[in-house]
Amino acid sequence: MAAPRLEIDLDKIYHNAHELLTRLSERGISVTGVTKAALGSVEIANTLLQAGVISLGDSRIENIKAMRLAENGAQIKDTEVLLLRSPMLSQVTQVVRYADTSCNTEIDIIKKLSVEASKQGRTHQILLMVELGDLREGIMPEDLIATVREVIGLPNIFLKGIGTNLACRSGVSPDAANMAKLSELADLIETTFDLTLDVVSGGNSANIQWALNGAQTDTGRINNLRLGEAILLGCEPLQRQAIDGLHTDAITLVAEVIESKRKPSQPTGDIAQSAFGETLLPNDPALTDRGIVRQAILAIGIQDIDPDGLQAPAGIEILGASSDHLVIEFVKGELLVGEEVAFQLNYSALLRAMTSPFVSKIFTHRQDAS
Ligand SMILES: *Cc1c(COP(=O)(O)O)cnc(C)c1O
Repeated sequence: MAAPRLEIDLDKIYHNAHELLTRLSERGISVTGVTKAALGSVEIANTLLQAGVISLGDSRIENIKAMRLAENGAQIKDTEVLLLRSPMLSQVTQVVRYADTSCNTEIDIIKKLSVEASKQGRTHQILLMVELGDLREGIMPEDLIATVREVIGLPNIFLKGIGTNLACRSGVSPDAANMAKLSELADLIETTFDLTLDVVSGGNSANIQWALNGAQTDTGRINNLRLGEAILLGCEPLQRQAIDGLHTDAITLVAEVIESKRKPSQPTGDIAQSAFGETLLPNDPALTDRGIVRQAILAIGIQDIDPDGLQAPAGIEILGASSDHLVIEFVKGELLVGEEVAFQLNYSALLRAMTSPFVSKIFTHRQDAS
């Protein structure tokens, strides 16, 4: 089989999505399935739709266009697709054509979306994103009412709702206070303008604990979450704890051994910068003498994965990486040239492997899928 490759078990992804959807629906929360960590994979999108997500979300219009035009994407054509990142002014034509809804924070972009939607004879839906402390995208809460006033006056634009995104830039956790603030802003918009917001989207996978925290959580007006990582990796991103009852091994990375030798544990010669500008610190394990070790090289590198985001199997330790080589030490048995090693991935390693054209994606299809 081709190596390196990602082995993607769609049964496990279905299970994870279905489990989260069921638990969240008991709290009145729907799920937008996020495909951005999977390069807009149609197989994964279809699996999320079979599990019951109400819409799909991706941060790149290129991924959305590819999903919408895919031959095996029949179901996606009739699904609401949300562009998660604010559109570039230079891409509004494609955004109106391929996305039904986009997250927005800049009135100049929304005005251009309005012009373009009028030209294409379509209505483009908007989620206004609100800044609630994480300091990535979002309109400052005190500016929200003025922005809404402008947005609802624009032709061919429909204000579908509001949303927020926490934990991505600064790691600010969703909690009772910031979620209550979002609910309060939704109420304020509705009473000020005498309208109804369909969607109040509370956040991403980092909101899982807040949302499922038993009866204590008052979910208020929040009726949607946008979930990627929790479904694909089965863990929540605040402490990277596994979520009860979910698979954490739905996706595995496999790489092939191209060199296997006994080598000294210590480099010889003067130590300057490595290929990526790092210099070994005096306390680096590579500088302590452990005698001769069993070292192997796997044919995968920094352009395909984040080496810090890989979890090696027992008996194998990752020593370092360059563009195309992953250097490992193995303590048990033999590791022969041509053999394969399988790793678990975190979000950052997954994102890079999914977007690397050098990593094959092998899907295990669902037994009962049509
Ligand atoms: C990436 C992203 C998500 C999904 O994040 P996960 O942690 O993968 O669940 C949701 N909303 C926005 C705006 C995003 O950029």
